[in-house]
Amino acid sequence: MAAPRAYLDWNATTPVHPAAKAAVLVALDCLGNPSSIHTEGRAARAILETARADLAALVGGEAENVVFTSGATEAANALFRAGLSGCCGKDIACAMRPMVSAVEHAAVIAAAGVGASFVQVDANGLVDTAALTAMLAEGGPAMVAIQLANNETGVVQDIPALAGIVHAAGGALIVDAVQAPGKLPLDIKALGADAIFLSAHKFGGPKGVGAIVFPDSRTRLAEAFIGGGGQERGQRGGTENLTGIAGMGAAARVAREMDEAVQRMIQLRGEFENHLNRLAPDVAILSQRVSRLVNTTCFAVPGLAAERALIAFDLDGVAVSSGSACSSGKVKASHVLTAMGMPDGVKAGAIRVSIGPTTVFDDLERCLNSLARQIQRRAKTKAA
Ligand code: PLP
Repeated sequence: MAAPRAYLDWNATTPVHPAAKAAVLVALDCLGNPSSIHTEGRAARAILETARADLAALVGGEAENVVFTSGATEAANALFRAGLSGCCGKDIACAMRPMVSAVEHAAVIAAAGVGASFVQVDANGLVDTAALTAMLAEGGPAMVAIQLANNETGVVQDIPALAGIVHAAGGALIVDAVQAPGKLPLDIKALGADAIFLSAHKFGGPKGVGAIVFPDSRTRLAEAFIGGGGQERGQRGGTENLTGIAGMGAAARVAREMDEAVQRMIQLRGEFENHLNRLAPDVAILSQRVSRLVNTTCFAVPGLAAERALIAFDLDGVAVSSGSACSSGKVKASHVLTAMGMPDGVKAGAIRVSIGPTTVFDDLERCLNSLARQIQRRAKTKAA
């Protein structure tokens, strides 16, 4: 019997948690439309509102400030295109200049539009606060998107400090918190953001469902990004994706109880990186000295091209990634590593290993054994 595959690409997507699957199945059997007032409709509404409360609890917010979407991509588009009202002490929609950090996910960069300006980062991938301050001083108020944690390197930004800078300049800060649940504590009020957004499939929920969460009931989308029947307090039309939302709510409940899993991931990732250093003493582990997600290692071994390595890993039963899944398949240097000023060798060789609560050391050992074989093959080819 073939050995089970080692799935080490949790930042791309996660297995659906059994609790989320169970919640999806219950919702699937729920006949009603949450907008209907009869008994069936009220049963569906109860599922929807339970999930909303669970999601709000995950981020330390209130249920009434959650807007469900089809994922983080839609959330970012809604925020940039519809704009915010009630933020920055204003009661009217703010027409703001779009600004993004240079290491945002491609979905957020695209949502900000062609006119967006880019805030540079340092070699560790941390936002350059002096550059941000200077850019904010240059024009009118800006809507700035800065992610909480990067999907490729795992680097965690100091969002409360960045929010302070953006707000001092009269801007609004929206935060892509997609990679945080189950790995980082999340408290929307402590972050100081004007909105955060999430995607269920990154923390054990189903694909194709996400949410925007606002810090208070005054802040909301200035208009519906998707017009329709007034659902989601008029901010997102269309009958709600009840099954997806139910799964997201259940996954949120699980992600809140993350302490034990986090400790395990810290231990596993540490062991993995120790082995990696022994196996390839010239390995570059990116952003190792700054705050990183506990589950992510982005590394490059000199002379090992990521595209070929990914195929070799796959043949050895190991799923890893080079940069974000959305950009792999295209032979293009990661914009994240480019923004960090990484040399060409690192950009061409960067491999991301991302683990999750059910990863065991055997999975990582398989990855290390495959890497060892690849390094040996490279040495033989070089010698020939
Ligand atoms: N932001 C980050 C940091 C991500 O990792 C992803 C998915 O890869 C997204 C946004 C987009 O999420 P979705 O494709 O679920 O809309």
